[in-house]
Amino acid sequence: MSDQNDQDAGKSRLSLRPAGGRLELGKTVDAGSVRQSFSHGRSKTVQVEVVKKRVVTPGHRPAAAAGAATPAPAGTPGSGRPPGGGARPGGGPRGAAPAAGRPLTQAELATRQRVLEEQRRLEAQRQREERERQALMVRSAAEEARRREEEDRKRAEEEAERAAEEARLKAEEEARQRAEAIAAALNPASVPAPTAAPAARAPTPAAPAPAQPAAPRRPAAATPGTAPAAPGTPAAKLTLRARTGEEEEERRGPVRRPGSPVLPVKKPVLAPAKKAATGDRRGGGRIDVQAAIEGEDDRSRSIASLRRARERERRQQELARLRSGTERVVRDVVIPETITVQELANRMAARGGEVVKALFRMGVMATLPQSIDADTAELVVQEFGHRPKRVAESDVEIGLAGETDQDIDLVPRPPVVTIMGHVDHGKTSLLDALRKTDVAAREAGGITQHIGAYQVQVADGSRVTFIDTPGHAAFTAMRSRGASVTDMVVLVVAADDGVMPQTVEAIHHAKAANVPLIVAVNKIDKPGVNPDRVRQELLQHEVVVESLGGETQEIEVSATQKINLDKLLEAISLQAEVLDLKANPDRAAEGTVIESRLDRGRGPVATVLVQKGTLQQGDIVVAGAEWGRVRAMLDDKGRQAKEADPSLPVEILGLSGVPTAGENFVAVENENQAREISEFRQRKLREKSSAATTAARGTLDEMLARIQAGVQKEVAVVVKADVQGSAEAIGVTLGKLGNEEVRVRVLHSAVGQITESDIQLAKASNAVVVAFNVRATTQARELAQREGVDIRYYSIIYEVSDDIEKLYKGRLAPVQREKFLGYAQVLQIFEVKRIGTIAGCRVTEGVVKRGAGVRLLRDGVVIHQGELSTLRRFKDDVREVANGYDCGMSFANYNDIKVGDQIECYETETVAAA
Ligand code: GDP
Ligand code: MG
Repeated sequence: MSDQNDQDAGKSRLSLRPAGGRLELGKTVDAGSVRQSFSHGRSKTVQVEVVKKRVVTPGHRPAAAAGAATPAPAGTPGSGRPPGGGARPGGGPRGAAPAAGRPLTQAELATRQRVLEEQRRLEAQRQREERERQALMVRSAAEEARRREEEDRKRAEEEAERAAEEARLKAEEEARQRAEAIAAALNPASVPAPTAAPAARAPTPAAPAPAQPAAPRRPAAATPGTAPAAPGTPAAKLTLRARTGEEEEERRGPVRRPGSPVLPVKKPVLAPAKKAATGDRRGGGRIDVQAAIEGEDDRSRSIASLRRARERERRQQELARLRSGTERVVRDVVIPETITVQELANRMAARGGEVVKALFRMGVMATLPQSIDADTAELVVQEFGHRPKRVAESDVEIGLAGETDQDIDLVPRPPVVTIMGHVDHGKTSLLDALRKTDVAAREAGGITQHIGAYQVQVADGSRVTFIDTPGHAAFTAMRSRGASVTDMVVLVVAADDGVMPQTVEAIHHAKAANVPLIVAVNKIDKPGVNPDRVRQELLQHEVVVESLGGETQEIEVSATQKINLDKLLEAISLQAEVLDLKANPDRAAEGTVIESRLDRGRGPVATVLVQKGTLQQGDIVVAGAEWGRVRAMLDDKGRQAKEADPSLPVEILGLSGVPTAGENFVAVENENQAREISEFRQRKLREKSSAATTAARGTLDEMLARIQAGVQKEVAVVVKADVQGSAEAIGVTLGKLGNEEVRVRVLHSAVGQITESDIQLAKASNAVVVAFNVRATTQARELAQREGVDIRYYSIIYEVSDDIEKLYKGRLAPVQREKFLGYAQVLQIFEVKRIGTIAGCRVTEGVVKRGAGVRLLRDGVVIHQGELSTLRRFKDDVREVANGYDCGMSFANYNDIKVGDQIECYETETVAAA
């Protein structure tokens, strides 16, 4: 092949001509027959003509061609067999066989090489020139089109002008005649105004349209001449006006045709001057396109060449027009996950009907307000010749949060307070008592409306907002949805009862949220109470009140006797001052949904707390996954409100659905945006609810990722244990863990089952729940699964510390992981000889399997862990029993089972450690 390649250089073109080195110039068409061979021995002969370009280059020897694939045997050069069936483009580098006959000498080869090189260069140059010429032509065609347009426009203008001129001359003439006859003013209607070209631009600004009694509706057509003099007007005035018109024309002439005088003038062709004096001047500003195109040498060209040039021009123009016709404006059309047909039409600047039609052709019946998905929208956009631009669906939320406020825009806002405390310590009573302190409420004639939050006006004029859903559970539930509504917590502790478990929980929840506390020691009206005891007890939970040298304000109050309520409000104001609470009221409203419900008469009703900006009636808002226009607003006293400023809770009507408490709401610009965001969020919710069942480890993986990325600096833990001793032990062990990068923080540690409140706390603070010999309630387990909170079950203390240590070191802890199988409820107990105790159970969740691990739970606490040895259904041994069925179960080596116990069934599986 290499030999052939050498020869290739000598071949630039495929040829069927017989080899032999003959130089032929006369023939440009070569004919021959080609034999094609196919599989199975078939073959076919085809007549082939090769049109050959004549190349006159000295020294060039057209050589015989033969395909490289099936090189013609040297013995049959005359057959002119082409390469195997494929007509190769001329000049292909391959496929040259050495010319038959005499082999070329080295010198000859060299010459050929040189000549070929030269030839190639020339060819390339020619092609380049050709390309340039074509580009020039296209350019000049475009230019021509532009010029043509200009010409048309100019001509129309001139036409109009000429018409105006004529009309004017005529009018002038008439006016003069009339003046001479002194009859002008008598019959103004006879002035032939219609002859003035309707398209004529009034060349003078002097047309006194309103003063025309005869042609009041035709001010545009009025020319100075037609303007009739009011009865009694001297004719001299008319002529004067006519002259001013002329002068005006003279003055404006050149201004109205800027730049045009540069071009040569061919007056007589297009603008035969009716009046020499003005004609000259006007002509000075007229373009003669012909002249412009052809320049000065038009005279030297023949008529035919001119005609040809014209023809060419016309053709090129047509071409340009065609081209511009297909090349419409191509837009980038942004397509979200779903879009309404109308909005899609708007974004393409197309008519809605067209889009509907296009959809119809695609088999999609959609009306303008209906939404279509992104794939369909993309097809439509392509059909319209635009560029579709898909956006990530979360993009709809971009910019939703608005800009951060500048300091100068911020003004003080009332504090938002949540009241927490143990049950029956007086939260509700205190809220009621505080509500009654409201100055404004007294003015309004009492409290009529009860919504999830209210604002009181203190005597000094300042305002305080109370969230009327007391308790840490609600508080943390909100926080777990990302809402931080509360500025401070008033912790109610009954002086007669002291610090109780929920008091401690409340402290932990408030601390987890980094919200300052104010302690309200309640019920001090009761005889024999000891507030000092409360202070001491609080100290044990790291709440140090002021009287003990700490930072936490404490007020002794009585909710029922209304003692010291003003002092409590004062303490709140003071704390608010310390916190320096501010917000910008002059922006689109943002806030949080405090509570919501479906009202039978009014539809979805939501109580929202405005946190930024001002919410106006009529605003379009997105609240969680719902949206709507605020149809009406009611304040906490049930009064209609037109607007709500920061920290004011209001009830809003008009949402599309019921949002969840704790979700944020934002006023947005338009319905489309609102709809897009709400649709996106609803989709996300759906996805989440279907994914949640499998993604219980979501938060854990996220936490690991954050720790590894160095973003998260602590591992938060909620500890629940079967007895106080183990809870404390775990708390102490975990407290010692941690390194310089990450510390372990025990948010809450208590005895008992895992409740929803625990899950919410864990969710709100991205914490892991450590369950030591305890289980979660069904609701808590479901919540954990929904929210992706990780509950880890242990029965050995050092395993807890091991696991958490791995966590903060950024490694995924367990190699052995437990897989929950199901729960069974013990309904009956049978004593069976040899086997022992058999529990008659009903499977209440999942499945139970023989041989699987079991735990016996009594009141949510693990009392035994072992293996399920017997599993029976109607005396038959079975492998597994599904949810809803009854069965008999017994444990290996354990008999202490009681009616009402719960049996948890699990498998152990090995999970690769991260
Ligand atoms: P909550 O469960 O924390 O909301 O407590 P409540 O507000 O329902 O109060 C529980 C009980 O304590 C009610 O019977 C109240 O009348 C009573 N109570 C509340 N505050 C006081 C108080 O300051 N003094 C007295 N003597 N009783 C109070
Ligand atoms: Mg209550």
